[in-house]
Amino acid sequence: MKLQEYTISKHNFEECMKCTVCTAYCPVLQVNPMYPGPKQAGPDGERLRLKDPYFFNYALKYCMNCKRCEVACPSDVNVADLIQAARIRYDRSKPKLRDRILASTDFMGTLARPFAPVVNGVTRLGVTKSVMDATLKIDHRRSFPKYSSRSFESWLRRHAKEQAAFPEQVAYFHGCYVNYNNPGLGRDLVKVLNALGVGVQLLEKEKCCGIALITNGMSDKATRHATHNIDAIRKAVTDRGLTVVTTSSSCTLTIREEYPNLLGVDNADVRDSVLMATRYIFERLEKGATLRFRTDYHKKIAYHTPCHMERMGWGVFSEKLMRMIPGVEFIQLDSACCGIAGTYGFKKENYEASQAIGAPLFEQIRAVNPDIVACDCETCKWQIEMSTGYTVENPISILADAIES
Ligand code: SF4
Ligand code: SF4
Repeated sequence: MKLQEYTISKHNFEECMKCTVCTAYCPVLQVNPMYPGPKQAGPDGERLRLKDPYFFNYALKYCMNCKRCEVACPSDVNVADLIQAARIRYDRSKPKLRDRILASTDFMGTLARPFAPVVNGVTRLGVTKSVMDATLKIDHRRSFPKYSSRSFESWLRRHAKEQAAFPEQVAYFHGCYVNYNNPGLGRDLVKVLNALGVGVQLLEKEKCCGIALITNGMSDKATRHATHNIDAIRKAVTDRGLTVVTTSSSCTLTIREEYPNLLGVDNADVRDSVLMATRYIFERLEKGATLRFRTDYHKKIAYHTPCHMERMGWGVFSEKLMRMIPGVEFIQLDSACCGIAGTYGFKKENYEASQAIGAPLFEQIRAVNPDIVACDCETCKWQIEMSTGYTVENPISILADAIES
């Protein structure tokens, strides 16, 4: 399969030919009149900002960094990178306490894990939501992801010996979501890779990829995380000869693209060794590996391609894997943003826009009425489950359920 790979950003605003195609694809512009839109916020604004930082517009904070403008642009202008880079360079406002809490996924996970049942119970209470709405401006209509009592890292450490016995190995960048909220997804990945004769190892030590730190105005801390993670990935790739696989499209895009393009952290020597697990698995199957599927698996699956997966052009791997499962009726949902964009949709000022952006997707899911919605992004999962009531699973979990134990 020949892929057109995502091009490294040069913040190439001069290549804008002012066609305005990006404005038609920007989900925020459709629902928020305060937002100037990708063309004005990106290439047009950049010309002015370079003359005088005075022209920086604080309304750029409404950009969700979904990258749909970049997918649409016929001139390959890295519009979203221009906007995020301008926010990093010129925005002098301090992150609010709320933004620090929402962006500290690693820290919050470490705090919450030992008390997971209590935290999960308390965050579901109406009174807790009202207090958080009134004090922190986290919208009371938002549901919070549950924490797990056991981390994925501790589980995999307990199975390190048996994993090391496989003839081939990969390293897994599991991300905060798998470690603190859904270790089951990590175990599902281990099950599928083991069925292919591949063992799974942890990186020496990983930190949160930093995507929420970038979008919440904490780029210094994000840079420290990026430097740490690239060192850990380098040890796995260069010293141990491993491919690094991931199960979150946003973590993957951040490590491969945002680290060099927004944070200036060089990853050129390891970038191509960081892959979504769906791509890694598909490529192994293409080379002749096989998976034994259950004969009693029958599901109607509707696939939502997350925005960052669209940007990487890798939704096709998830799609092809799910289509391989006998007994799956596969439906590709229209390309559309779900509206949550990580921490964006949790903020009171963005809640209405977030739900309005996702409404066409929610409507289509209800019309399709699938058994499962498939999606490679954890925050899309939270948004779709909260807004439609349908269960959302990562394609890796679907694959793990569909293969023989
Ligand atoms: S789509 Fe690309 S070329 Fe067209 S206006 Fe937007 S940035 Fe410029
Ligand atoms: S990244 Fe998304 S929200 Fe931001 S300008 Fe582009 S399309 Fe609009």
